[in-house]
Amino acid sequence: MTIRVALAGNPNTGKTTLFNALTGSVQHVGNWPGVTVEKKEARLRYNKDVIVEDLPGIYSLSPYTTEEIVARTYIINDRPDVILNIVDASNLERNLYLTTQLVEVGVPVLLALNMMDVVKRNGDTIDMKKLGDELGCEVFPISALKGEGIKAAALRAVELAKEKKPHVSHHTYTPELEGKLDEIGALIADKADKDGMRWYTTKVFERDEQIMKALDLDAATKSKIDTIVTDCETQEDDDSEGIITNARYEYIAKLIEQCLVKKNKNGLTASDRVDQIVTNRILALPIFVCIIFLVYYLSISTIGTAGTDWINDHLFGDIIPGIVDPALTNIGLSAWLHSLIMDGIIAGVGAVLGFLPQMLVLFICLAILEDCGYMARIAFILDRIFRKFGLSGKSFIPVLVSTGCGIPGIMSSRTIESDNDRRLTVLSATFMPCGAKLPIIALITGALFPHSTWVAPSAYFLGMVSIVVSGIILKKTKLFAGDPTPFVIELPAYHIPSPLNVVRTMIDRALAFVKKAGTVILLATVIVWFLSGFDWHLAMVDDISNSILASIGKVIGHI
Ligand code: GDP
Repeated sequence: MTIRVALAGNPNTGKTTLFNALTGSVQHVGNWPGVTVEKKEARLRYNKDVIVEDLPGIYSLSPYTTEEIVARTYIINDRPDVILNIVDASNLERNLYLTTQLVEVGVPVLLALNMMDVVKRNGDTIDMKKLGDELGCEVFPISALKGEGIKAAALRAVELAKEKKPHVSHHTYTPELEGKLDEIGALIADKADKDGMRWYTTKVFERDEQIMKALDLDAATKSKIDTIVTDCETQEDDDSEGIITNARYEYIAKLIEQCLVKKNKNGLTASDRVDQIVTNRILALPIFVCIIFLVYYLSISTIGTAGTDWINDHLFGDIIPGIVDPALTNIGLSAWLHSLIMDGIIAGVGAVLGFLPQMLVLFICLAILEDCGYMARIAFILDRIFRKFGLSGKSFIPVLVSTGCGIPGIMSSRTIESDNDRRLTVLSATFMPCGAKLPIIALITGALFPHSTWVAPSAYFLGMVSIVVSGIILKKTKLFAGDPTPFVIELPAYHIPSPLNVVRTMIDRALAFVKKAGTVILLATVIVWFLSGFDWHLAMVDDISNSILASIGKVIGHI
C-alpha cells in the first residue's frame, strides 16, 4: 500500500530543502518566498512505499492565491494519509497560523520545527511538549539544512499514517464564537465529512464560497447560517473572515506565551542589524550597485575571464586541436570531414564553451546572493524605486530569476496575482541579461572596451532601465493601466549560504547552457561552417570570400 505524506508549510520555511533531503531529489532551493508553485512528488528514501508530496508554500488555507488553491484542493479533496507540517521555528507565531488550519482538516498532522539551528543560535527555547499537547500533535525538532532529525520525523509521520487516526483539533476560541461554530456545525452535520468537521464549520462561518458550494446546502440551511454569521459580524463589528483570523491569532499569542522563551525579547537580531544598513533608505542603492559591480567584475573582468582565456587559448586553441588534428590526418579522413570536425565543431562549440568559466563565476555569485538572503532584499529595495514608475516589486522576483535564465523567470511570474502586473512582468523580465547573454556582453566588452570594467556591469543596469522604460510605456496603454498591487515580501534571516545549494544551483544553470551548446549551438556552428566553407556548387573553398555566406553577405550589402 502506498502512503502519501504531504509536506505543507509557509513559503521559505525549508520545505524544498526537506523534500530534497527526504527523497534524494534535486529541486531548486531558493531563498525567497514563491519558489514552489506546483506540487512535486518523489519516494521517501527510507521507505519506498511512501510518496512525499511537496505542496506550494502557503500562509493559510484560503482560496485566494494559486498556491493556496493547489495546496488546499489537494489536502481537502485528495486527503493525504498524513500532513508533515514544516514550521520555521524562528518565526513560530506567523507559521502557526497555517498549523491551526491544517489541524482542523482531520488528516493526521506531525509538526516538524525546522531551523532549530537558528533558534539555538538566538538563544531561544521552545517547549515542544507543551506545544504538541496544545495543538494535539507530535512535534519534532529538525534542521532540514543539516539533515538533523528529519529521518525520525518522516518515519513517525509514516507510522501516524498507518494508524489512520483522524486528527481532532484541540484549539478553541472565545465561548461566544465557539457557540456560533457549534450552531453551524449542527446545521451542516449530515453534509460535511465528520473528520474535518471543524474545518468545514469554520469555512462555512467565513462564507467560503467553494466550500459552501461543495457542501451543496439547501436554501433554508444557507439562510439560517447567514443569520448566525451576520449576527456575530454585527456584534464584533468585523467580517466573519476577520473574526476567525483574530481568534486564531489570539489563540496563537497565548500558545506562544506558554511555549516560547525568547532570550532577546525586544532587541534586534544580527539579521535585523545588517538590514538596518543594507535596506537603509540612503545606503541601500549604493550598496546594491557595488554588489552587482563586484559580481560582474569577478565574472567578466577577472576570475571568469582568466578561465575563459585559458579555455579559448589553450584548451580549444592548442591542446584539443593538437591531439585531434594529427589523429584525423593519420586515419586519412576526407578533407571536408576533417574541416567539419576541426573548423566547425571544435572551433565553433569550443568558442561558445569558452564562456563557461565566466558563467560559472556569475552563477556562483548569484546563487550565494540568493541563498544568503540578499536577493529578497534587492526585491524590497527596488520596489521602492519601481513603485514610483507604476511597477510592482512583485515583478522583481521573476526579473531576478531571469538573471540566471529567462524561462524560469517567466514561469515564476505565476506567483503574481494581478493579471496586469503578471503580463507586464512576462513582457519585460527578459530584458535582464541572462546567462546566455553573458557571452555576448563579454564579447562586446572585450572587443570594444577591453580596459573598462564598468561596461559589463552596466548591462545589468541597462536591463533594469529597459524594464522601467517599457513599464512606463506599457502603463500608458489601456491594457496595463492601473495602480500596481501592494508588495509584501518576507525578508528571511540572513544565513551562511549552503555550499550544496550554491553548487547545485550553479550546476543546474551551467548544464542548461552546456545542453544548448551541444544541440542548438552545435547545429548553428555546423551551418555557419558549411556556409563559410563551401560555394554554391558545394565545392570546398579556400578563400572565405568565395563562399555561400560571402555571396549572401554581398547581396545584403547591396540592399
Ligand atoms: P521553501 O520555500 O519552503 O521550499 O524553502 P527552501 O527549501 O527553498 O529554503 C529556504 C531557505 O532556508 C534556503 O536558503 C535554505 O538553505 C534555508 N534553510 C532550510 N532549512 C534550514 C535550516 O534547517 N536551517 C537554516 N539555517 N536554514 C535553512
